[in-house]
Amino acid sequence: MLITHDTRCALNTVVDLVNTAPEDDTAADGLPDLEALAVFVRGHAVSDVGVLSEFDLSAVRKVRSRFARIFAAPDARAAAGLINELVAAAGTTPRLTDHDGYDWHVHYFAPGASLADHLAADCGMALAFFVVAGERERLRRCEAPDCRRAFVDLSRNRSRRYCDSRTCGNRLHVAAYRARRKESESAG
Ligand SMILES: [Zn+2]
Ligand SMILES: [Zn+2]
Repeated sequence: MLITHDTRCALNTVVDLVNTAPEDDTAADGLPDLEALAVFVRGHAVSDVGVLSEFDLSAVRKVRSRFARIFAAPDARAAAGLINELVAAAGTTPRLTDHDGYDWHVHYFAPGASLADHLAADCGMALAFFVVAGERERLRRCEAPDCRRAFVDLSRNRSRRYCDSRTCGNRLHVAAYRARRKESESAG
């Protein structure tokens, strides 16, 4: 599966966006205010973003929960339906660009689109390509029981089970190692 620079950026952005959502009512929102939203936009080099308002903040949070549902979709058909709705609502204007020295690629957001529509269009299309390539299963949630962060598994054989957070993979490895040792001790 060909993953261009922009697709990779869009994937990072959507994963990080989904992971700012509070896990439950007691957890803090990773995008609590406009300041946090501005930091997010700068950190992910989202282009053509104007002055942000409270409207943008609530719209981005809404888009975030729609993306979370796509990551939680049980199958490709469900994901496709959700992506179609999301992208249609945002409106897209595909156009070729080779900005900043990158090879030719397509931007989807309409010129002057709001931040939420921008994210919905470009990140939505990045996810759409995974469905097209028969790779929807790569859109995952971490299997560590107390984590469940979203991530995209770009490993060759789709074998990744844990998110980027080192603690998840390591912690699970340690737990598995201890369990194995315990087993062999009690067996021996
Ligand atoms: Zn671009
Ligand atoms: Zn994790």
